[in-house]
Amino acid sequence: MPSFYEDNDDLRFYVERGIDWAPLVHLTEYDGRAPDAFPTTADAVAFYTEVLELVGRFAAEDVAPVASRIDRAHPTLEAGEVVTPEVHRALFEKISGLGLHGLCLPRELDGMNCPFLLFSLNNELLARADVSVTAHHGFHMGMAMAMLLYSVLEGSTTFDQENGRISSTRFAEAIAGIVSGAEWGSMDITEADAGSDMARLRCVGVLGDDGWRVSGEKIFITSGHGRWHFVIARTEPVSEAAFGGLDGLSLFLVPAWSEGPDGARVRHGHLGTVEDKLGHNGSVTVSIRFDDAPAHLVGARGDGFKQMLLLMNNARIGVGFEALGLCEAAYRAARGYAAVRRSMGKTIDRHEMIADLLDEMRTEIQGLRALGVTAAWHEEMGQKIRLKLQFFAPSEPGERASLERQLRRHQRAARRMTPLLKFLASEKAVEHARKAIQIHGGSGYIKEQGVEKLLRDAIVFPIYEGTSQIQALMVMKDTLLGVVKDPAAFFKRAAASRWRAVSGRSAADRALARLEVLRDGAIQHLLGRLLTTKVRELRHQPVRSWRDAMRGWDPKRDFALALLHAERLCALLAHVEVASVLYEQVRAHPDRADVLDRWLDRAEPRCRHWHDVITTTGKRLLASLDGAEAADQAAK
Ligand SMILES: Cc1cc2nc3c(=O)[nH]c(=O)nc-3n(C[C@H](O)[C@H](O)[C@H](O)COP(=O)(O)OP(=O)(O)OC[C@H]3O[C@@H](n4cnc5c(N)ncnc54)[C@H](O)[C@@H]3O)c2cc1C
Repeated sequence: MPSFYEDNDDLRFYVERGIDWAPLVHLTEYDGRAPDAFPTTADAVAFYTEVLELVGRFAAEDVAPVASRIDRAHPTLEAGEVVTPEVHRALFEKISGLGLHGLCLPRELDGMNCPFLLFSLNNELLARADVSVTAHHGFHMGMAMAMLLYSVLEGSTTFDQENGRISSTRFAEAIAGIVSGAEWGSMDITEADAGSDMARLRCVGVLGDDGWRVSGEKIFITSGHGRWHFVIARTEPVSEAAFGGLDGLSLFLVPAWSEGPDGARVRHGHLGTVEDKLGHNGSVTVSIRFDDAPAHLVGARGDGFKQMLLLMNNARIGVGFEALGLCEAAYRAARGYAAVRRSMGKTIDRHEMIADLLDEMRTEIQGLRALGVTAAWHEEMGQKIRLKLQFFAPSEPGERASLERQLRRHQRAARRMTPLLKFLASEKAVEHARKAIQIHGGSGYIKEQGVEKLLRDAIVFPIYEGTSQIQALMVMKDTLLGVVKDPAAFFKRAAASRWRAVSGRSAADRALARLEVLRDGAIQHLLGRLLTTKVRELRHQPVRSWRDAMRGWDPKRDFALALLHAERLCALLAHVEVASVLYEQVRAHPDRADVLDRWLDRAEPRCRHWHDVITTTGKRLLASLDGAEAADQAAK
């Protein structure tokens, strides 16, 4: 019986040995408070494994065989409603039947109470069969979890302290609809003039006598034909401050329809178009217009951007696992074909260049999985510790302080790793799909073979949930500001890496330290250039204004070199992060040394390249951009 879980040794390593399940199970089971909690971690993990075995078989037997039909059968818009093809509907009925829409929801909300990390692994398995099915599935469970999380954070969920069960939660009706599979949600951010630049959002939320109402049009909304829409809308005027456009946004949950007295659907959100896309055809993408739609404010007014980031962070981890599943599909198709296709006296997997491509794909998949699992683990640990502190805080001050420290550590790690994962996995999915086509030769370009679909599906990863460039900007900003906040710590760490690069205790330790030296060199160069530009500018200003000038950075002008090299810096940091994660893994599991060695082998020359480009290029392009800007000013 084919199974995408059982045939994957690397994935099984994480479930069986690589994931530190104990603290996660402990938190997920509210410290064993609930009467139906798993008695031991081993019992919980045995159940999680059963779920993955089931999903692995479902992906291999039910989803993969219909992936090309899903790709060809497009949804349509009829009388203002989306009609999905039969093959799609039948598949989602099966997913509902398996109970997967409630995988991580608490038992009292009809869920299975599994950790969110299991949902990520579930997504990888499904994405290996078809990423668009995974995307739509994600807008069920993911949105129900978001409703619960937002409600917990704003204080509209109550818990029974005795057994850790939820007694009431604000969006219970919506969650119940989603768990049943009849309903799902969406995340409505993008507008015609506002994609990456959320400060330009124009959709508005207005508070009237009968509550909040939302108006405006959102485009490119995945699964936007569902009932529950998280809509970000402007509730306050744009302020003059830098990035002030982000301050006046609020988050709303907007039902796209309600039931009229006769039971008929009364629409508040009107579907405009169903997009005809390059790929991802099992995932419906629509535009939707809200005209004075009744809306529920989520959290505090004006906090919308912050709230949306929370949702997007989870979604970015989700995209990381979708991309990973697609990489796995591309690698397996390429490996299978290369093992039987003969050329010049041998199968093509014996030709050096093809063997190298396959080895590279395998290594990168293992690196991405290590990063993905670690990022998802930290994100979930952070969220669950925060929940524990809010509702079940220990009375002993020392215990509480220790939890708070753990919370900060997990949050820092998740914040650092999430954009790196989204960036690297998305870019690799496109590369791997392209390589799979190349390894298939002419057959790869022919639709019947099915690998060209992977490339069409993959190309959206670096675009949605924040483009690769936007991930790179976030990583660059966090990295440089982190150093500016505590330069002493940075230089101390950098010196330690330089020392380890020559005197580390093992070849792997020295190789990892060499990567860190390249990373720190690139960061130091960008910061050095940034400060030099600033100091040069200060020379022409009175000394008394220096303090203000040093405080007031103009991100466009002062960070130009860092902005130029943000993607390279992000790629470099992602490679070092994967190396560090694998290095730690090998300390606990020495049999994984081969994965680390292969990663280090490929990472070092790449990091050296990015370091060299960052530290030696950019002047010419920035001068030409300055020239273009000056010409624009003169023309005004
Ligand atoms: C299939 C699909 C599904 C989607 N699903 C959803 C959804 O569910 N919900 C939703 O709200 N949106 C969704 N989107 C929209 C998606 O999130 C946006 O397309 C994306 O954020 C980019 O915005 P944009 O298209 O306006 O491009 P732009 O923001 O105009 O960007 C164009 C290019 O410029 C680059 N760029 C922009 N600003 C900068 C900068 N400061 N520095 C460097 N480069 C920059 C971008 O990286 C990109 O390469 C979806 C899109 C697609 C294609």
